[in-house]
Amino acid sequence: MLRVEEVPEIARRAGERERADAERYPTETIRELHECGLIAAGFSPANGGSGWTCLDAVRAVETLAAESPSAALIVAMPVGFAGITEAVGYLAPEAYRAEWPEQLASIAEDFHAGTHYAAANSEAGAGGSFDATKTIATRTADGWRLSGAKILASGGANADVFFSIAKVTQDDLPGAGVVEGFLVSTRAPGVTIATDWDGFGMRSTESHSVRYQDVNAVRMWGFPNFFVVAQPLSYWFCLFAAIPLGCAAGLLAVMSTPAPASPAVRLRLAEARMKYEALSAYLHETAAAWRPAAGPEYAGRVLRTKTYVSQEATKLCAELFALGGGRHYRRNDIAARLLADSFAGTALRPPLALALDGLLAQFED
Ligand SMILES: Cc1cc2nc3c(=O)[nH]c(=O)nc-3n(C[C@H](O)[C@H](O)[C@H](O)COP(=O)(O)OP(=O)(O)OC[C@H]3O[C@@H](n4cnc5c(N)ncnc54)[C@H](O)[C@@H]3O)c2cc1C
Repeated sequence: MLRVEEVPEIARRAGERERADAERYPTETIRELHECGLIAAGFSPANGGSGWTCLDAVRAVETLAAESPSAALIVAMPVGFAGITEAVGYLAPEAYRAEWPEQLASIAEDFHAGTHYAAANSEAGAGGSFDATKTIATRTADGWRLSGAKILASGGANADVFFSIAKVTQDDLPGAGVVEGFLVSTRAPGVTIATDWDGFGMRSTESHSVRYQDVNAVRMWGFPNFFVVAQPLSYWFCLFAAIPLGCAAGLLAVMSTPAPASPAVRLRLAEARMKYEALSAYLHETAAAWRPAAGPEYAGRVLRTKTYVSQEATKLCAELFALGGGRHYRRNDIAARLLADSFAGTALRPPLALALDGLLAQFED
């Protein structure tokens, strides 16, 4: 069992490794995060986890991001996957309820064995929207077969399993939603993982493109119309907001150590701390209310939280960086890296432009 209070020490080690080499995929850190149980923490103790809530996971990702934003981003995907999979079983329709325990147990077993799950959902030009997904899944005699092209799959070839959304027909899956989720072995025939990542920030995440050509999936995740029935995305949105927020915490620590002599700069740092604490409290309150199938009101709250926290945390990083002066004005300086990493928060699902359109639509309703 891992307690959230143990995460700062784990994060400190991740930060040391990141500072030694910020460009290389953090293999050792991800291994430690599997071994200490952080990645599986969202499962119940009966399923080999620590029974973490969404709030626990947010606190852990925020803490980790302050030291190693790339590691925080890489693990946000499987951490969310575990927490969601643990929580949604009771929503399975009658026909799928009997098989749910087997699905949950087999995924939890994978996590226990250190199998690394990564998200390969985004598609070029889709703007983060599920409706615009072009990857398709067709039913075969033995399961499901996927074809399509994904971008920005953090973890790339270091992952063992991708979870990917794809469109399915009603003939293949009566009651299906616009998209369904599938698990795909990264080493299955027909999977091609490119080496095309050259990010502005998050350099070591290896967020490459992936192509599926008639790939046999391991299984479908969840049950028909899973994303509408279980409404799982809000869990990840809370985790994504925790990443730029952690970057702001990291920058605040960098700028405050040693404490600056200038009273004016100290005042700016005190103001920055107040902003950080306010953003953190907003996110924590939203995450504490997470539950599956929470409904449109909660979805709106999460959209506002993710949008506001990501945007304001990124601005806060810029303000803090500006206080650093020439000392930190180097591409590989820790402050410069935290600043660049923070901008990933506004790109992560839902990307800022789409989120703002979503907010406006809610306002018009
Ligand atoms: C560092 C990093 C790591 C990531 N890791 C992963 C990962 O592991 N797995 C994964 O699946 N994805 C990942 N992503 C992708 C991310 O979650 C977003 O889904 C993706 O960035 C959105 O696509 P885009 O901004 O490239 O969209 P584009 O399609 O290029 O759109 C560009 C902009 O236009 C806006 N736009 C496009 N169409 C519309 C529309 N119809 N209405 C309103 N606005 C529109 C978009 O919102 C966006 O802001 C990662 C992204 C980054 C930056």
